[in-house]
Amino acid sequence: MASIDPTPTSDYRGRLAPSPTGYLHVGHARTFWTAWERARDAGGTLVMRMEDLDPDRSRALYAEAAIDDLRWLGIRWQEGPHEGGPYAPYVQSERRAIYLAAWRTLLRRGYLFPCRCSRKDLATALGAPHEGSSPASPQSAGKLEPLDDEPIYPGTCRHFQARATQIPGQTAGGVETPEGFNWRFRVPDGEAIEFVDGNLGPQRFVAGVDFGDFVVWRRDGVPSYQLACVADDAAMHITEVVRGADLLKSTARQILLYRALAWTPPAWYHCRLVVDDKGRRLAKRNDALSLRALRQRGLTPETVLSAELHVEA
Ligand SMILES: [Zn+2]
Repeated sequence: MASIDPTPTSDYRGRLAPSPTGYLHVGHARTFWTAWERARDAGGTLVMRMEDLDPDRSRALYAEAAIDDLRWLGIRWQEGPHEGGPYAPYVQSERRAIYLAAWRTLLRRGYLFPCRCSRKDLATALGAPHEGSSPASPQSAGKLEPLDDEPIYPGTCRHFQARATQIPGQTAGGVETPEGFNWRFRVPDGEAIEFVDGNLGPQRFVAGVDFGDFVVWRRDGVPSYQLACVADDAAMHITEVVRGADLLKSTARQILLYRALAWTPPAWYHCRLVVDDKGRRLAKRNDALSLRALRQRGLTPETVLSAELHVEA
């Protein structure tokens, strides 16, 4: 395997951002391989960042497995949890202060409102009996169901301004911490968010139609993927984000966060998703397609990365 230049010759900075909630599968492998190729071909720097914010699903076992499997593939990076680097720590669960600072900035600038809706409230308002579970209908069979498709918020708490006097249980001193609420970003309804993807071309999503007021900080004390990802990519001076096409709509949300925080967004490069022989997107539950299982079956990195791999779900 060619190795990445230890001394970058360009300002390109890319990143690998696995979430350790399961073993990586063939789809991750191909996306991360693309990220590595683009950083290498640009003579740039590749950063490994462990996105372990989900306290219920993240496991140290999976974090180490992700690092080990990516190395087995031949992917190399210069900065990361073990390597260190100028923007350490490279583990999201250790970067809370950075996310809190971003939350405070958004709050002070008036972009956020506290939301007290429960999952049940939202499900009722949306007329959906089981939020988050959408059994495949005949029409949707073969279509990709975006991972990041949180339901459009019905607007119940939108009128709350983030002033202490309007938030139950807050003192007049003002809101200093996000504890106790879901905090949502108030999107500019009707505005088209457009960007040109380096792989998939022009993209367009309408705020309030394609996505609604999204969570930036969860009631259980955890920053959302959207907020943490933007805060880290900005802090780590990432110039291009390479990730799966399931996150295209998240990119539209994140562009709004960049604008609200007055930060320069990176370039975007979304990879087509790998689907199984029934046209379904691979998920971490497809254990037979995990890199672990494929390694144990004796497959080579070349086979795993080749388009010819027969995918048995
Ligand atoms: Zn609400």
